[in-house]
Amino acid sequence: MRENTEKDKKIMTRNTIKLHNSLTRQKEDFIPIDANHVKLYACGPTVYNYAHIGNARMAVVFDAWVRVLRHRYPKVTYVSNITDVDDKIMKAADETGVPISEITEKYTCIYNEDMATLNVNAPDIQPKATEHIGEMIALIETLITKDFAYEAEGHVLFNVPNNPAYGALSGRSRDEQIAGARVEVAPYKRDAADFVLWKPSTPDQVGWDSPFGFGRPGWHIECSAMAEKHLGLPFDIHGGGADLKFPHHENEIAQSCCANNKADDPAGFSRVWLHNGFVTVEGEKMSKSLGNFLTVHDAIKDHKGEVIRLTLLSAHYRQPLDWSEQALHQSEVLLDKLYKKLESMSELNANDAVVPDPILSALYDDLNTPLVIAELNKLVKQENSAALKSQLLSVGNLLGILQEDPANWFASDEDGVSDEDVKKIELLIAERMEAKDNKDFARSDKIRDELLAMGIEIKDTRDGTQWEKV
Ligand SMILES: [Zn+2]
Repeated sequence: MRENTEKDKKIMTRNTIKLHNSLTRQKEDFIPIDANHVKLYACGPTVYNYAHIGNARMAVVFDAWVRVLRHRYPKVTYVSNITDVDDKIMKAADETGVPISEITEKYTCIYNEDMATLNVNAPDIQPKATEHIGEMIALIETLITKDFAYEAEGHVLFNVPNNPAYGALSGRSRDEQIAGARVEVAPYKRDAADFVLWKPSTPDQVGWDSPFGFGRPGWHIECSAMAEKHLGLPFDIHGGGADLKFPHHENEIAQSCCANNKADDPAGFSRVWLHNGFVTVEGEKMSKSLGNFLTVHDAIKDHKGEVIRLTLLSAHYRQPLDWSEQALHQSEVLLDKLYKKLESMSELNANDAVVPDPILSALYDDLNTPLVIAELNKLVKQENSAALKSQLLSVGNLLGILQEDPANWFASDEDGVSDEDVKKIELLIAERMEAKDNKDFARSDKIRDELLAMGIEIKDTRDGTQWEKV
């Protein structure tokens, strides 16, 4: 009897995922609201430019979390949004004279293509802010009715002092909140910490009619509305980059909890909050002014997607990650070793061996990917066997690596175009065909230019589009 209990306990511990919850500031056992259906939301990109390597870290980290959760639970729904209305997008449209929708469609496509190159699975739902304006307006109306928000000069503002629980996630004091919010002097604000839910648009700006006048939503309300619509409240996990903790995530909590009679319970929106650390480049902060602003689009021209992905997972997700040639090289060396090992076992049929215990426990222990990489370095030295082959492949699936045929990994065709590039070129050509079918010639011309920039010339023939390296 006693033996069984101990054994049960052991199994239970082994099956428990531990994660560091930013809201409680503790590592805790993950207990889903419904173990048959885990629900997760992560803030996606604002689409007006190429994604930088920090955006990619967020996408790769949460893709890895989703893979681990799917390994443990029968059903996981992952929602990650696209912010396609924002003052930065409006500014880009003003500067370039290109319509907003053209900018956002283009960069949404590019973002998704770039992430696919990093083996990031598409989220189950990728809601766009502009398709949820009705839900945002309804949420703002609820907040006004409940006296958590007020109208002033065409704006609607959230009244922070009416929500005493405000600040629970970031732990910022009121003075720090005001300093951190970087408020402009706005005479219509009742309190310096109040933030915008809705702002007025001039007739020539993008906007929607609403009970508060013609205008557009603030950024924070977008995620509150989309998360609630697609996951219901509360849901299990909310993720994003650490830089979003304040004010973005703090404000999401305030809006959603106050609208849903949970003003005193910051966990009434999402139970768990996960934040990934930032990326530095060769030890320095990444910034446009330092000239080390690294986009994924550029990185994949020089490195294979899996090399970038493994590098992004080489530091623990909560820690800062230093992007360096050395880190990339280490990832490449390990991947080459793993593919070589798989190639040497090509005659063996993978059996049903599972992810080795030390690796699964590392992943269940707050996604400890550096430990997994250390274990992989040991595993690759073991003798060839069907079991080893299937172990490597199952670890690969969990980490999102080893997804290629080993022969392909080492091959590059005679034109010097890597398999990764071939994949990308074919994606772009398919996308161009679609743009042409939709008579979106501006877009199809842009894709042609993009291919040219990669050194690829295309020719439309009766048998379809052909391409060659020039
Ligand atoms: Zn968000």
